[in-house]
Amino acid sequence: MKTKRIGSITACALSLIFVLLLAIPLVGCGFDKTVDRAAKNLNNYDIEAVFSDEDKTIKATEIVTIKNTHKETMSTIKFHLYGKAFREDAKILPYTYTSTSKCFPNGISYGDMQINSVYEGENPLNFSYSGQDNNILVIDKSLKKNESTKIIIQFELKLAECIHRLGWFGDAVNLGNWYPILCIFENGEFVCDPYYSIGDPFYSECSNYKVKFTFNSQYKVATTGQIKNEKIEQNLTTVQVEAKAVRDFCIALNKNFEVVSGKVGETEINYFGYINDTDIEKNLKTAKLALSTFNSIFGTYPYRTLNVVKTPFLFGGMEYPNTVWIADNISDDFELTKVIVHEIAHQWWYGLVGNNEVKYSYIDEALAEYSTILFFEKNESFGITRQKLVQENALSYQLYAEVIDSIGGTINDKLNQSVIEFQSEFEYAYVVYVRGSLFMDALRDKIGDKAFNNALKSYFKKYKFLVADRNALLKCFNKAAGDDLTDFFEEWKA
Ligand SMILES: [Zn+2]
Repeated sequence: MKTKRIGSITACALSLIFVLLLAIPLVGCGFDKTVDRAAKNLNNYDIEAVFSDEDKTIKATEIVTIKNTHKETMSTIKFHLYGKAFREDAKILPYTYTSTSKCFPNGISYGDMQINSVYEGENPLNFSYSGQDNNILVIDKSLKKNESTKIIIQFELKLAECIHRLGWFGDAVNLGNWYPILCIFENGEFVCDPYYSIGDPFYSECSNYKVKFTFNSQYKVATTGQIKNEKIEQNLTTVQVEAKAVRDFCIALNKNFEVVSGKVGETEINYFGYINDTDIEKNLKTAKLALSTFNSIFGTYPYRTLNVVKTPFLFGGMEYPNTVWIADNISDDFELTKVIVHEIAHQWWYGLVGNNEVKYSYIDEALAEYSTILFFEKNESFGITRQKLVQENALSYQLYAEVIDSIGGTINDKLNQSVIEFQSEFEYAYVVYVRGSLFMDALRDKIGDKAFNNALKSYFKKYKFLVADRNALLKCFNKAAGDDLTDFFEEWKA
């Protein structure tokens, strides 16, 4: 009997070792499969771009493979040209009057974006600029249901000297929304909003990217995706980057980057600070904690890389897929922590679950802002409670309302409205972020912690790599709560 038992234990241990051996590579495989599965049947961008440091321009060729997966025929194909918003004769500016001086510390500067040619294979295609402020590229090419095409666009970008998503300043170059990106085709037409000054007025679908980018070797680079190859020749660095199933592709260059790296699960997380910064390790630690916290609350971040990048920026931070930008002028420690956490939360709310950020800006912003409260609640070592943060938000909103009241104004406090309906960037910030997070907290109080968490998990699971809207969010909360929350949403104008 003894022998038999030893035998069975040994067999069991061996089979366990065998299972473990099998399981080790399988963990990583399963991880990659999530993105690989999502990447199937998406549009593909293949971009080759060269940045000239001397005249701050980019010359690029972009090959986009597009399939019409809709039932309606696309009579033309339309792309956003966000770079055109920085041109001298632009009528709709990507910055408000109040943020102009922050955006241009060295005086007003202009950029531009020019399309040189558009081809389908060997055949040149006619194209024109259209949209409310000529920021839309219209290509004379129709695409029936299930038809595919490969469009080759040659373009040039001139960067303004400015502290914004797109521009150069000092030793830094920000390339956000820098290449022609396909407008979303919805209900039989392309959504063609211009680059508004308020909010992050973008709306794009997940696609696969291969980007070959050449720049002066004085710079270091932080991008969306994974760098697959890097070579330096005659003081020029060329990186080849791949990103699957991402909503956009950004690049940041800086002559002073210093990088520290860590790992959370299967994701490598890199913090790009500046040389001689003393808070690099601390910021990496915050970023790692944010990633692991949100992995456990919402569902796992499925990509191999997350870059947290310090750069000149006129707001606190900015989210792009696989990357967040953190403004380099934040001196307050707690503020910096909040910005890192808020921007990383956007990897779930914007990056993975997309939404039309012009029409429903409150969705991803209120969720990202409330996610910071969930972060501090979960990580008690910061010593900040949910109650304290919610009270602070309530007080701050009340003070704002009193100020507006004292000057005889009224707040347009609707959450569910387009960014263009807000009267100022202050109103947008107080309503969308502050009131938005108060709405999320009230919703949680109404349906309870368990239903609230389940709703966020199911919203993520159901819509990751896709786009959602207000009704999708409402439905997830209804289902998790086992209740119809339409009236509650409407009370909050959400
Ligand atoms: Zn945000």
